[in-house]
Amino acid sequence: MGKQGKSRSTTDEVRAEVERWIEANWSQEITVRDWWRRLADAGYSSPALSPDVGGLGWPGDLAATAMATLTKARVLGPPAGLGLLLAAPTIAALGRPDQIDRYVRPILDGTEAWCQLFSEPQAGSDLAGLQTRAERDGDEWIVTGQKVWSSTARTADLAMLIARTDPDAPKRRGITYFVMEMDQPGVEVRPLREMTGRAVFNEVFLDEARVRHTDIVGELNEGWRVANATLAFERAGAGHGGAAFAAARPGGRAGDLDRPAASFVGGSGPISGAAVGRRHLKALTELAADRGRTADPLVRQAIAGVRSDYDLLRLLGWKAKAAPGTRTGAEGNIAKIFNSQAVANARDAANLLLGPEGQLVDSEGSAGMFQEMTLFSPAPPIYAGSDQIQRNVIGERTLGLPREPGPPPDTPFSELPTN
Ligand SMILES: Cc1cc2nc3c(=O)[nH]c(=O)nc-3n(C[C@H](O)[C@H](O)[C@H](O)COP(=O)(O)OP(=O)(O)OC[C@H]3O[C@@H](n4cnc5c(N)ncnc54)[C@H](O)[C@@H]3O)c2cc1C
Repeated sequence: MGKQGKSRSTTDEVRAEVERWIEANWSQEITVRDWWRRLADAGYSSPALSPDVGGLGWPGDLAATAMATLTKARVLGPPAGLGLLLAAPTIAALGRPDQIDRYVRPILDGTEAWCQLFSEPQAGSDLAGLQTRAERDGDEWIVTGQKVWSSTARTADLAMLIARTDPDAPKRRGITYFVMEMDQPGVEVRPLREMTGRAVFNEVFLDEARVRHTDIVGELNEGWRVANATLAFERAGAGHGGAAFAAARPGGRAGDLDRPAASFVGGSGPISGAAVGRRHLKALTELAADRGRTADPLVRQAIAGVRSDYDLLRLLGWKAKAAPGTRTGAEGNIAKIFNSQAVANARDAANLLLGPEGQLVDSEGSAGMFQEMTLFSPAPPIYAGSDQIQRNVIGERTLGLPREPGPPPDTPFSELPTN
């Protein structure tokens, strides 16, 4: 099977194939770099990508089975992060062949890490109102502005950057999508500490940063379309466990590539998505037993609710990847909203068991995991476009409701009132 992308395989066949492959390839001594190279060679880093860009062309259920098999075998997963989740599928879908050759493989083997420079202090939900500008200078563009909430920017080699290249065009028409190198004098990254205690996201200040003209993805001034493709991958991923970051961090700057892959197995890993639902359920059930509450009807009901949330989330994730004619187009938006609710429900079930201990941090075992989840749980309704914005999108694009009031869409950006 492997590189043939045999889409009619069953999940049992995929499971058996991946188990055999792990048996032949995993060892306690292998480095992260070597393990990720093998995963990429086999097409398992992102089996849903088409075979010509390094995947296997597998539909969602088979790709999910491959990932679940890796997790169950307690080996390190693929180099998850914004490269694998967003940049690879965007460039595979809308990049030129030379851009696919240059950028996709180092994402799949984890040797290059990416960040997403979209949001700005005045442009989050209203992303098309972004102010960062890029001006042409021969074969390059000079970029100046500020980005914020840029996850993993400190260790990223490359960025998906959107910037305004024509301020006189209507606001969605004068934006261009670039690939930008992060390690250069015009880029300053300042970490932002979150209430989890971590500093995953950052402010990024761009002061005459340089980008090659050949690093435009899609057409000049047509970056809004490309950005929307990235956002669609983000929403679908956020609803299906794509908020996951690998326990080991991709890219040379993070310093994980030459460490043993086995040392990253069993780390804290992702917090949301169907892919981790099984782990949350197991931890909740163990916690209930540990606290002597398995006969408590409220606890039983809460855990059963979490179980059905994660089942539904898994099915929604598959539906988002079903054949085009069978979709409404809103599956990603719905899964994204549903994921926020599933995380909140799992958090609440855990806190029913933990009581005041839920407000502490760093307890041993699953209590510590749910304490961290409690602090992280406000994030899923915000990232990948807030849940309110998803509801607007479903209303306007899928249900055909009237658009929100505002200036005519053809108003030049330079004539729009600013925030
Ligand atoms: C954990 C995390 C990671 C992130 N990582 C990245 C990243 O890597 N790269 C990146 O570019 N961005 C990232 N973001 C930013 C994220 O995309 C934005 O926070 C999000 O789009 C909301 O924008 P905002 O924070 O500016 O809020 P605002 O747009 O100011 O919204 C504030 C509130 O108003 C509501 N609201 C706004 N407009 C409307 C409307 N028209 N109708 C109804 N309600 C509305 C919103 O839903 C929200 O509740 C991340 C955010 C989080 C939390």
